[in-house]
Amino acid sequence: MTTALPANAQAKALAAAGRLPAFVYDLAELDAHVRSVRAALGDVELYYAVKANPDPELLRVLARHVDGFEVASGGELAHVRELHPGLPVALGGPGKTDEELRGEVTRLHVESTGELRRLIASGRSADVLLRVNLDVPVGGASLAMGGGATPFGMDPAAIDECLELLRAQEAVRLRGIHAHLASGLEARPLLELAAAVLDYARGLGVTEVNLGGGMAVSYAEPDRRFDWDAYGRGLAALRRPGETLRIEPGRSLTVYCGRYVTRVIDVKRVHGELFAVVAGGTHHIRTPATKDHSQPVVSGEPGEPVTIVGQLCTPKDVLARRVPMRLERDDVVEFTMAGAYAWNISHHDFLMHPKPGFHYVGG
Ligand SMILES: *Cc1c(COP(=O)(O)O)cnc(C)c1O
Repeated sequence: MTTALPANAQAKALAAAGRLPAFVYDLAELDAHVRSVRAALGDVELYYAVKANPDPELLRVLARHVDGFEVASGGELAHVRELHPGLPVALGGPGKTDEELRGEVTRLHVESTGELRRLIASGRSADVLLRVNLDVPVGGASLAMGGGATPFGMDPAAIDECLELLRAQEAVRLRGIHAHLASGLEARPLLELAAAVLDYARGLGVTEVNLGGGMAVSYAEPDRRFDWDAYGRGLAALRRPGETLRIEPGRSLTVYCGRYVTRVIDVKRVHGELFAVVAGGTHHIRTPATKDHSQPVVSGEPGEPVTIVGQLCTPKDVLARRVPMRLERDDVVEFTMAGAYAWNISHHDFLMHPKPGFHYVGG
């Protein structure tokens, strides 16, 4: 359902109609946000990492601004091809099947020497970036995909082996280097990583570099945003003439446009601690369970700290801890920053509760 109501009015309307829990996506917010990110990036290409949220309505808005989509499976590839057949697509991810390696893509991000051998043996032609895992410090990151032993990408020795394999044939063309070393970094540390990756790529003599995603998002401070202007300026200073730089953020593009709206079913005190049980839970929005954080809530009337939990029979079903807010039965609770790694990473069928609704405003 699409309406012209602002997001908070939409939440009230859904509550009045008895249609909670629901995700409400503000497509106008997404449009404005991605437009400003695009503007800050200058000549740097922007792909969206679809695994953050593949919702077709979000992809429709993103497609206005991005240069392409980054997908991490055959399923995401088919989804994006059907919705946006004209846009460039890069396929990455460890553990690609032979079928996935046969997919028609603009760029294939090679994750291992074995994968490259299979690709070459298939006889197909392809344009590849080699995913490198450089031994560089990634301190301060919320997740590290590189900078040490991980299953992602290749160390420089394996990249050298790939270069040998590539030299011996013509169908698979080396276009450059791909790196997605860490997530949750601010502009300055991300630029330091970019400088290291660019140095490495230049040493190999390639001019196309995908620097990955992972731009910081703060659930503790929802108003704080990644400094896209500083990042864009920094990349412009690093880039040399003739080089193509590309990034592929996910979370930092779509997280802000989504809200998870629900209502209080029960309020109880157990051993002195106050709990509000809401309809739905982490089987709809698994983000607070995976990141072990409190999902930010639109504040209401101040009150005694209350822990907001869902309907699942597990102590892990906690959405937010000790929120200083007065909650009673039937009150509406709006969780923000629910636009990325929320519904699509959740275990929907656990306990067989009803699915949430999906609503789109603006856009
Ligand atoms: C997940 C992923 C991204 C996006 O990461 P965010 O933290 O959502 O920006 C980009 N590139 C690769 C290879 C990924 O696996």
